[in-house]
Amino acid sequence: MLNIVIFGPPGAGKGTQAKLLIDKYQLIHISTGDLLRSQVDAGTELGLQAKKFMDKGDLVPDDVVIGMINSQIDKNKNANGFIFDGFPRTTIQAEALDNLLNQKNIPVKIVIALEIEQNELISRLTKRADIEGRSDDQDISTILERIKNYHEKTAQLLTYYKNQNKLVSINGIGNIEEIHERICKIIDIR
Ligand code: AMP
Repeated sequence: MLNIVIFGPPGAGKGTQAKLLIDKYQLIHISTGDLLRSQVDAGTELGLQAKKFMDKGDLVPDDVVIGMINSQIDKNKNANGFIFDGFPRTTIQAEALDNLLNQKNIPVKIVIALEIEQNELISRLTKRADIEGRSDDQDISTILERIKNYHEKTAQLLTYYKNQNKLVSINGIGNIEEIHERICKIIDIR
C-alpha cells in the first residue's frame, strides 16, 4: 500500500500536488483542512467548534483531527493507498498516525516535503484569497499566524520523519507540472 504524507507550510501547494498524485497512483486523498471545511459548511457541531480555531489561524485540537483520520481510513478499507494532506501537523498527530497505520500493517511509505520560502507563501496565499475565497486566507494576520503555527508546531515533524528515513524534500518552486514530475520521480524509485 502506497501511503504518502505530503508536507509543507500553508501555501506550499500540498493540495494541488495531492490531487495530481491521487489520479496518477489511484490513491485516496485525506485532507484534514477539506474535511474540516465541509463540517463548517454543513454547520455541524464539530464544524462550529473547529471554525473558532480555523478563523484565527490556530490548529484544531489533536483529538478532533485524529478522530476524523480514523474514520476516513476505516471507510476506505480497499484503498491502494492514502495521501495525507495537512495531516499530521503535530508530534501527537504523527504518533497517532503511526500507531493507527502500524496496527493495520500499512505504514507511511514516504513523506514529501515541499520547500518554499516565506515571501512566496504569503504571495500565493494572498492570491488564493481572491480565487478560492477561503476565509482564513483573507487577512495577512491570519496568514502569518498559520505560518507561525507551522514553524512552532509542525516543522519539527521534518526531524521526526527524517529519523524514520522517510523524508524527501522537494523544491516547491516552479510550475505545477514540473513539481509533480519531481515528486513522481521520487515515488517511482522507492
Ligand atoms: P489547510 O486546508 O490544511 O490549510 O487547513 C486549514 C485549517 O484547518 C488550519 O489552519 C487549521 O485550523 C485546520 N487544520 C487542518 N488540518 C489540521 C490538522 N492536521 N491539525 C489541526 N488543525 C488542522
